[in-house]
Amino acid sequence: MDIAVIGTGYVGLVAGACFADTGNEVVCVDVNEAKIAALVKGEIPIYEPGLADIVQRNVKDGRLSFTTSLKHGVQKAEIIFIAVGTPQDEDGSADLTHVLAVARGIGEHMNGYKVIVDKSTVPVGTAEKVRKEIASKTTHSFDVVSNPEFLKEGAAIDDFLKPDRVVVGVSSEKAGKIMMDLYAPFVRTNNPIIVMDVPSAEMTKYAANTMLATRISFMNEIANLCEKVGADIDAVRIGIGTDSRIGMSFLFPGIGYGGSCFPKDVQALIRTGKDVGISLKISAAVEDVNAQQKSLMFQKIVKFYGSAESLKGKKIAVWGLAFKPKTDDVRDAPALVVIADLLKAGAEVSAFDPEAMKTFAAKLGNNPALTYAESALHALQDSDALVICTEWGEFRRPNFNKMKVAMRAPVVFDGRNILESKKMAEEGFYYECMGRPGVTSTRNVAAKINAA
Ligand code: NAD
Repeated sequence: MDIAVIGTGYVGLVAGACFADTGNEVVCVDVNEAKIAALVKGEIPIYEPGLADIVQRNVKDGRLSFTTSLKHGVQKAEIIFIAVGTPQDEDGSADLTHVLAVARGIGEHMNGYKVIVDKSTVPVGTAEKVRKEIASKTTHSFDVVSNPEFLKEGAAIDDFLKPDRVVVGVSSEKAGKIMMDLYAPFVRTNNPIIVMDVPSAEMTKYAANTMLATRISFMNEIANLCEKVGADIDAVRIGIGTDSRIGMSFLFPGIGYGGSCFPKDVQALIRTGKDVGISLKISAAVEDVNAQQKSLMFQKIVKFYGSAESLKGKKIAVWGLAFKPKTDDVRDAPALVVIADLLKAGAEVSAFDPEAMKTFAAKLGNNPALTYAESALHALQDSDALVICTEWGEFRRPNFNKMKVAMRAPVVFDGRNILESKKMAEEGFYYECMGRPGVTSTRNVAAKINAA
């Protein structure tokens, strides 16, 4: 099949590469000239495990190409995916500027029947808006399909090639058949292609993300309660997760969810509710809890040092800047909040992330009090404490002796519960985590005094 994917971000580039990898001819289109120029040279503008291989292989085999010409993409394709960003607007709603601009452009360049697929996360009613934009520019026939994407950054290729399910919202049998045919190679293990009406498909994406965000905020709330009453969230997590009605996924507490999806999608769902006179109280609470959770680590640090003023001149190491491991995406990452609070209090921050330092620096701008280290260990040099913001695999088994030599005081705030309290006690660290007993024994009071 001839496919065009408009927007070559985390979703569009992965989708384009994976469609090419199943034998389709794919043109990826983007307005960002620098991005397209890099892709044409074989450079991958984002970090996503496995993506470079699959892009380079399909370019070499002539099935995948890149252009800034929407006209070229539209005219060559029979299926056109819209995969541009839908950032949060000021009122919380999804900003559809890019989606509708692309729709108009598609309309202008139509040269025959096409299926236009909304892959971007868009609120109910968007497919109809896209249809109207296209129809205002062309007399050619077309169908608009909703096909929300459920991939996770960091595991995007696997998620796309082997999805749990494919959701397709259609209003025509013809478009439904084309979509079933396109996705057949991805569901050979009999995972379902779920065909439904368009509004339900659009809603499914928001309901899925808000459900997942709800689990995280709920567990964070329970973790905070565990801390106060002397329970251990890890035991509770296993205790409830083994109930088949609950399941083990998405039960880990932490310093809040981030990324380009959950925060904006929960807000957009709340906005959709407001627009039709329904107050989505659970969704609103999910967002409130998450916002509080992001500043909780800073509050723990302040409590440890006695006051925010005591942080002035302290050197704090931060491990992890990306909103999750295995990505360079820092959109709405909890580390943005933690580091902003530390800098505001007058601390110096020495940060390390295996992939996200460039994107983080671009987001936060220049600040002489924020430096980026070449390794996790270098970040710790002369630091008064370490804060862990992202659960990268390489942070899970650090060399504790080297850490203690590098640090001024063996003090660790673990926002992702990746280290073990018992081990940290044996190693002589002062250690705080989320919803579990930390290490505050008298043996470590010296560390506290040294650090204060
Ligand atoms: P992104 O910001 O990484 O990429 C969007 C791309 O679209 C950019 O390269 C931008 O230059 C391009 N673009 C903008 N306007 C354009 C136009 N008029 N013509 C051509 N290109 C244009 O975004 P993303 O993370 O890939 O997300 C895309 C959509 O998919 C969003 O709606 C998002 O909510 C949804 N989604 C994202 C994820 C994820 O994990 N990132 C997962 C599922 C769904």
